[in-house]
Amino acid sequence: MARHNAASLYGQVCKEPAIVRDNLGEIIYSMCYIKTLRGVRRVENGVNYLRYDKILVLAKDKETYSKMVDWHVNDMVEIKGMFATKNVDKVAYCPNQDCPNSHKEHGIAKPGTICFVVPIFAEKIKTLEDNNACIDDLYAHREVSNQIYALGELVREPKKIKVSAKEEGKPSITLTQYQIALDRKYKVKTDPPEIKSDYPWVKSYGAMGKEDRLRLHTGSVVFIDGYIQRRKVSRKTVCPLCGQAFEWSDDNLELVPYDIEYMPHTFYSDAMLEQMAKDNPEELKQRLYIDAATEQFDTLEEGLSSN
Ligand SMILES: [Zn+2]
Repeated sequence: MARHNAASLYGQVCKEPAIVRDNLGEIIYSMCYIKTLRGVRRVENGVNYLRYDKILVLAKDKETYSKMVDWHVNDMVEIKGMFATKNVDKVAYCPNQDCPNSHKEHGIAKPGTICFVVPIFAEKIKTLEDNNACIDDLYAHREVSNQIYALGELVREPKKIKVSAKEEGKPSITLTQYQIALDRKYKVKTDPPEIKSDYPWVKSYGAMGKEDRLRLHTGSVVFIDGYIQRRKVSRKTVCPLCGQAFEWSDDNLELVPYDIEYMPHTFYSDAMLEQMAKDNPEELKQRLYIDAATEQFDTLEEGLSSN
């Protein structure tokens, strides 16, 4: 499969970068949250909106991390790089005050994923006086602030998810969720050589989401022209010490296509769907209309890993 994974960001440095050094003071890596703005897109319930996304940029090679040393809050920066995922343990704290797992130094480790952009190019464009000036500048650059092109292979069946609207009274949003494997085009020097792919989740909305759910399957190859979205997701955990069940908030980055192209012979054609309607109408119904119970993170324990 051809490899394609190109993220391009223009954004505001919204927190001082973290420069991580070894015992000798040499930089190992540096990381920075970049605030981006993406243009107005319509989601299924007709709401048009602009959205800010804070995207983690993690520089592991000298050329890019040495530049980040000079970045400060309210700098506007440009980044080109690849979207990467890494499996890590995230920590949930038990809400039961009498339980040791409620204490900051304990907690319950749960498998999770962090997603970030690894730059191959990073540059400071200008420094602005305050946050308002950054917001204006982001608005002027909204069409180029948050872009990704990615060619990936589905590693899970698409699922229908219903997400309740944030504002009361607004209809819920139906979307389609699936996970893809992106083969690495660039080697990340500090990563072990056996890591060859990244596994982002994709969320597609509206008519595109419905089409994705109907035609795509594990093994389908898709080319995504889209943006990176940050989302909070509620996860459920049972405390192994006291048995208390509780919800906690995790967050992650995912890809949302503006446009998606299916690679030939990797998706269900009209003829195949007609055949499926005859042979297995139940499966077709499942694909199109049945809500999967949960968003991405609850199924993560099933384990697809990039490391
Ligand atoms: Zn507990």
